[in-house]
Amino acid sequence: MEFGTKVLHAVNKVCPKTGALTNPIYQTTTYVQDGPGEHKGYEYSRTGNPTRDVLEQTLAALESANHGLAFASGLAAIDTVMNLLGAGDHVICSDDVYAGTFRLFERVKAKNNISFSWVDMTCPGAIEAALRENTKMIWCESPTNPLLKLVDIQALATIARSNNCLLVVDNTFMTPYFQKPLLLGADIVVHSVTKYLNGHSDVIGGALLTNDTDLYKQLKFLQNAIGAVPGAFDCWLVTRGLKTLHVRMQQHEYNAKKIAHYLERHPLIKRVIYPGLESHPQHALAKKQMTGFGGMMTFDVDTDLDGIKLFLKNLHYFSLAESLGCVESLIELPAIMTHAALPASERIKLGITDGLVRLSVGIEDCADLMADLDQALSSIACNYCAAQRVDQQSLCGS
Ligand SMILES: *Cc1c(COP(=O)(O)O)cnc(C)c1O
Repeated sequence: MEFGTKVLHAVNKVCPKTGALTNPIYQTTTYVQDGPGEHKGYEYSRTGNPTRDVLEQTLAALESANHGLAFASGLAAIDTVMNLLGAGDHVICSDDVYAGTFRLFERVKAKNNISFSWVDMTCPGAIEAALRENTKMIWCESPTNPLLKLVDIQALATIARSNNCLLVVDNTFMTPYFQKPLLLGADIVVHSVTKYLNGHSDVIGGALLTNDTDLYKQLKFLQNAIGAVPGAFDCWLVTRGLKTLHVRMQQHEYNAKKIAHYLERHPLIKRVIYPGLESHPQHALAKKQMTGFGGMMTFDVDTDLDGIKLFLKNLHYFSLAESLGCVESLIELPAIMTHAALPASERIKLGITDGLVRLSVGIEDCADLMADLDQALSSIACNYCAAQRVDQQSLCGS
């Protein structure tokens, strides 16, 4: 079954009793038993819920995984994975992970005496150098956030396997439509379902996928023991969002490619980072391990903070907001917004400059998005020319 068919038909949801085409919302906490211990597979909704089952099975089918588990947020899913570890264990992580992951690891998990090494995983030698006796897990995102660095997942899986470590890949940015880390050798895939998988800016959720039945059993135990599960209605909404995942991802990418090429040619843009551009230093790896390049990009505008603020203010269709992966286009400044929790020295080391802008390109009509960026850039071009006393004609045409 191909992906676009799977999103609709992988899990048979037609109700045998009523013929209802869509899966019901089982908004219930408990299930009546025929006799003590005689139940129909459900006892209590933290442990299991039929609406959640449909979501978990659909997500597993999309990642080509044997098992799926849904959580109340991406971070709840990540925290549950970290509970596989104990005091004294060591984890190697990619150095520009999602800022909330960094915070959870360094400010919460470190208190349980789990230690972390942050390495630039674009260089495989760096990972081997960071390995220790007690290294139990390698954690990566690819592409990373916000600098869209890629990690060679297959190479990482080889290192993980030969050193008895679990490889966990946060696949939020690509979704299984563009990248399937389990097929590249990862042990666990993590998602913030909040982003592309749900896609409609109305649910916070997370997920874990694995092929390893033993790992699944441990994670399923932890899901119930910790209890960070999603409600039935949120599960239903995500299942609904997933029905258009392939169509949305195609449009996100179509728009993002055009916008990336447009920005790359604009005189006010210093650099554009998008894995689909030839200029991306890992474009070849992107083509090898992904089947598309997604809808996320970052760029540096050649102006000061006031100029950037004016640019953001003049946009009509790009909302200034954190989060990503929804149908609406979003724009944000990592240094002040999503990555403000990182110390300034860390941000500079990573290359997150104050002028770095992150775009989550939505599924609006591309012509409108391009015209919007164009007019907002022109508005600062005029200011820029005036301040620099350069020929306005060449930049603003006025
Ligand atoms: C948003 C995000 C998370 C955290 O997910 P929440 O649903 O916000 O808890 C983790 N990883 C990545 C890459 C994200 O973008």
